[in-house]
Amino acid sequence: MDLRVRALETVLAAKGYVDPAALDALIDTYQTRIGPRNGARVVAKAWADPAYLDWLRRDASAAIASLGYSGRQGEHMVVAENTPDCHNLVVCTLCSCYPWPVLGLPPTWYKSAPYRSRAVRDPRGVLADFGVTLPDTCTIRVWDSTAEVRYLVLPQRPAGTEDWTEEALAVLVTRDSMIGTGLPRSPGPSA
Ligand code: FE
Repeated sequence: MDLRVRALETVLAAKGYVDPAALDALIDTYQTRIGPRNGARVVAKAWADPAYLDWLRRDASAAIASLGYSGRQGEHMVVAENTPDCHNLVVCTLCSCYPWPVLGLPPTWYKSAPYRSRAVRDPRGVLADFGVTLPDTCTIRVWDSTAEVRYLVLPQRPAGTEDWTEEALAVLVTRDSMIGTGLPRSPGPSA
């Protein structure tokens, strides 16, 4: 696959269809400048600000773009909100569609065939592999991303964080908790 991509890139650049410098800038942007901290800020704001949470539920694309996170692979965002009775898990069964503006580039496992097939067949087993065990009363809802719609999981706010600032809350939000394969960090005994 690497060789094929390199061969394609060489031909496209030789024909003048793509500018190698533009490609480098794109890759650098999503690999090193945009990452899951963007999504963590969205989640922390939703936890701290009821009006923002309401906006996120009604129009996630606009609410997320208001923080400056928009652009390719995030044009149409939907937020899937975890509750005590329902846990959300995001997959792209077809390939690797992922909300780049809020999470950066997808992890390798997200693109792997085993994750893509098993997330649908056996979501509880997949979660167990990630170290996440949910009560049997909690339904797991699986969202299949498409080229058009990208999902961000809104994890439940950890208990014991009632007085926390958005900045402090954002530190608890992990990448995996926004895909649904993880939970937020625990606030710790000092909270
Ligand atoms: Fe995809």
